[in-house]
Amino acid sequence: MEGTTFMKLTIIGGGIAGLSAAYYATKKLSNVQITLIESDSRWGGKISTGRVTFDDGQFIIEGGPDTFLASKPWGVALCKELGLGERLHGTNPNQRNTYVLNRGRLLPLPDGLAMMIPSDIPSILRSGLISWFGKARMGLDFLLPAKSPNGDESLGAFVSRRLGRAAYENLIEPLMSGIYAGDGDQLSLASTFPYLRDLELNHGSLARGAISMRKKMSGNGVRSLPTSHRRRESSDSVPGSRSAFLTPTTGLAEIVEALVKHLQVSNVDLRLNTSVSRISTSYPKGDINSRYLVELEDGSSLDSDSVILATPAPVSGTLLASFDPSLASVLQSIPCASTATVSLAYRQSDLPRPLDGYGYVIPRREGRRALACTWTSTKFPHRAPEGYALIRVFVGRAGQDIPWNENDLLELAKEELNLTLGITAKPILSRVFMWENAMPQYNLGHPEKLKQVDSALEKYPGLALAGNGYRGIGIPDCIHSGELAVEQVMRDLSRRSDMNVALHGLHQENL
Ligand SMILES: Cc1cc2nc3c(=O)[nH]c(=O)nc-3n(C[C@H](O)[C@H](O)[C@H](O)COP(=O)(O)OP(=O)(O)OC[C@H]3O[C@@H](n4cnc5c(N)ncnc54)[C@H](O)[C@@H]3O)c2cc1C
Repeated sequence: MEGTTFMKLTIIGGGIAGLSAAYYATKKLSNVQITLIESDSRWGGKISTGRVTFDDGQFIIEGGPDTFLASKPWGVALCKELGLGERLHGTNPNQRNTYVLNRGRLLPLPDGLAMMIPSDIPSILRSGLISWFGKARMGLDFLLPAKSPNGDESLGAFVSRRLGRAAYENLIEPLMSGIYAGDGDQLSLASTFPYLRDLELNHGSLARGAISMRKKMSGNGVRSLPTSHRRRESSDSVPGSRSAFLTPTTGLAEIVEALVKHLQVSNVDLRLNTSVSRISTSYPKGDINSRYLVELEDGSSLDSDSVILATPAPVSGTLLASFDPSLASVLQSIPCASTATVSLAYRQSDLPRPLDGYGYVIPRREGRRALACTWTSTKFPHRAPEGYALIRVFVGRAGQDIPWNENDLLELAKEELNLTLGITAKPILSRVFMWENAMPQYNLGHPEKLKQVDSALEKYPGLALAGNGYRGIGIPDCIHSGELAVEQVMRDLSRRSDMNVALHGLHQENL
């Protein structure tokens, strides 16, 4: 359009946060030229789905995340907008067992955990995971007064205070810390599970709060997975069944593929294999007209009105170091744990025991190097061809070293499966995914870091951050962070244009 000035928005990082930011920028901003830059040769970041054709069927192997939480609305909303609503499935409703490794044996997780907190007392009483003494200590939760609100505490300290250390170590820690591959005694309650503190304050007891929350939980209306990919259209899919977790039929990469397709038709400048080395600005702090120079590793640069950094927090710190060292050092101080996943496929007939559930979690106190094991082909039956089992071992947690090469990780995973499940057969295929510094740790002090970051960013109109380093590590949170970053940029750009229109008016009056 003649006379139209296009603003330039550069988004750095093509994981789910950066892709979502680009998507919402195409929806919410007009007259903006959008460039999305990714250093890797593929889109998706931690979302990495392998589809392996085998014996007339397909293995769907997730290297990173394998589902997302349905209760956080941003994942479902984006999928629906992308036309993927009908392709979302829940976990298998027919074999819902989850086990906890306890002194080397698998014991079932008690029923009735509401957002991970026990809400079914008879089932806790029956559980072999906690001693009678530990169970009696859990009961004190109904009597202990709520602590008055005075700041943050660690997840471990909070749960131990309410339910006792035994319940924390044997039951809650493996579930909660597993999400962050973290150390619960370091994780900040306020940054990871703030609703638990609300339960304590509002109900006077975690269990009472969980019981009330369980009553309120309503279905999300998505159907669960069919028992086999080949039988996808048959009647054994269960319309309307509820699931806390969702995933598209052929893996989370469907979301990435749909986003990229949308960005291509929206004329977003999409650049793979392009690494950003530095961002600079010559404008004084707070100047509403600030522009940014995005410098690329090949020596070229992009002049931008506005920049969204959707790279991991420490990387974003490095990129900003030249013009705000103190903001950079806060971002770089957000620790990240390295993890790996090892997927192994077996003939069902080679397994010594049925995989009758979603898998098992391993408490830190068991001293194993694996964190959890997902029985993928039971959790999502269509992810392995008929007659085969797909298992995924999750390795690595904060504060624990793991071997950092594919062969050793594979051996570690096989050893775990041998020790716990007695599997000695040779897998028919295996895939190892290594994720270095992938899991941000929202440790004690994280809320204060976020305040420092927010106040520093106020001095840089047009600059915003997105991604898993700040206010949520899960896919829905990352999607939301991309949308919020676009809204921030939109406010800055509109303030800039209002200011310039006003200045122009003043200038005309003075002539
Ligand atoms: C093994 C594993 C399992 C997980 N399981 C789940 C799960 O089941 N459910 C769930 O909701 N979440 C899960 N998560 C968390 C979730 O996957 C991540 O938090 C989320 O995908 C991160 O998205 P992001 O866009 O913030 O970051 P990333 O995906 O890390 O994207 C950042 C991108 O920036 C690029 N980049 C870095 N530096 C530069 C540079 N200088 N220039 C240009 N580009 C650059 C990177 O290559 C990368 O693609 C899991 C994570 C892991 C590792």
